[in-house]
Amino acid sequence: MDPRVEQFMAQIIAKNANENEFHQAVQEVAESLIPYIEENPKYKHAKVLERIAEPERVILFRVPWLDDKGEIQINKGYRIEMNSAIGPYKGGLRFHPTVNLSILKFLAFEQVLKNSLTTLPMGGGKGGSDFDPKGKSDNEVMRFCQSFMTELCKHIGANTDIPAGDIGVGGREIGYMFGQYKRIRNEFVGVLTGKGIQYGGSVIRPEATGYGAVYFAEEMLKTRGDSFKGKVVTVSGSGNVAQYATEKVNELGGKVVTVSDSAGFIHDPNGIDSEKLAYIMELKNIKRGRIKEYADQYGCEYYEGKRPWEIKCDVALPCATQNELNEEEAKVLVANGCFVISEGANMPSTPEAVEVYIENKILYGPGKAANAGGVAVSGLEMSQNSLRLSWTREEVDQRLHQIMKDIHATCEKFGKDSSGFINYVNGANIGGFVKVAEAMLAQGAV
Ligand code: NDP
Repeated sequence: MDPRVEQFMAQIIAKNANENEFHQAVQEVAESLIPYIEENPKYKHAKVLERIAEPERVILFRVPWLDDKGEIQINKGYRIEMNSAIGPYKGGLRFHPTVNLSILKFLAFEQVLKNSLTTLPMGGGKGGSDFDPKGKSDNEVMRFCQSFMTELCKHIGANTDIPAGDIGVGGREIGYMFGQYKRIRNEFVGVLTGKGIQYGGSVIRPEATGYGAVYFAEEMLKTRGDSFKGKVVTVSGSGNVAQYATEKVNELGGKVVTVSDSAGFIHDPNGIDSEKLAYIMELKNIKRGRIKEYADQYGCEYYEGKRPWEIKCDVALPCATQNELNEEEAKVLVANGCFVISEGANMPSTPEAVEVYIENKILYGPGKAANAGGVAVSGLEMSQNSLRLSWTREEVDQRLHQIMKDIHATCEKFGKDSSGFINYVNGANIGGFVKVAEAMLAQGAV
């Protein structure tokens, strides 16, 4: 490791003990940024990197709620307000039993650079709870969301901090939280994004992250004069991002052959067409079932406890969770001919896997660039709420598409080396950093 990165990381680790995911995210960014900052000493003198690695504010709270048996349950609630240099804090809420400070700080840190890349005026934040919506009744989820928002509403606002969804937080949860915010604060404002269309949501928001990751992959393919036509694609996850990534790959002429959940993956060599995708959406969003049922329904293979990376493909779209693709799996992917990876999920590849991609010079779009479409359309939802107008599907999709092209252009600008290879990791990290850093310099030591 570069000794300057090592020295910087020693401080981060000492200050943030036991936060492994946070260390991982900061180190990846530091490796890109420290050489750049050495060439641009104004950022070094102002300690911009040290400052962006420290949250502006961390809110931790108790979330008590009553289950259906009348018993009190207690969860932890969090909101990390990471950086507001270029706009109000913006980033999702995650409800999953693995949620802890380290995971939310890594997500909030990534969010700052991602939001900057979108070209929209949004700072970065993230939050959530160790609550597990799986196996809970609708009423239990509602009571939990209401209790969570009863505390969170003291800290957020349409011009302060605007949460959205993430793992375990979809339209249902956003609806319950919005209702509670409105009830307590007595104001109908765009304090959350990912809202239902009837009450201030934007068209294309549910689709945005998955569509965006595919648009980004399409831009990467174009740099080699290629397209999705006829490409075999493996997808992990079967939630919001995976579903709409699959839909867009189909539209562009590719074939998705896998999806997964936390229990295993299915392999459908004939491809998941629109009818099969509708089945997955019903299974996951309404029945809240397991992906194994797809294999029973369509008579294909189900691999219990496994991830889809051993399946031969041209393009891989990891759309489930962090660290779901390791070094060995990356080597298998590349050996099988995969040459495009676009991350719908946040930090799905381990640092060793990323090294494999870079060594093999494949087209690798890291999450903070490739999955920025979700927060970009959240930004567009905020604009529509402020204007008290709704744009059409075509208009929002066209803006999303343009933003993904712009993010790709930024990555190319900051990430292209002298051999012509685009290192999208460097491109996204430096491209996202510059705008935030300039704003921080202008605002002084805050
Ligand atoms: P969902 O909750 O809709 O879906 C998550 C999917 O990932 C499910 O299939 C779930 O399986 C699977 N999964 C979750 N945790 C694990 C795990 N530990 N191991 C294996 N599989 C797992 O979430 P989203 O689709 O919204 O989010 C997916 C990823 O995309 C996350 O990394 C998120 O941060 C990122 N992202 C999401 C955005 C959005 O707009 N929603 C925006 C940008 C990034 P199971 O059903 O078994 O839990």
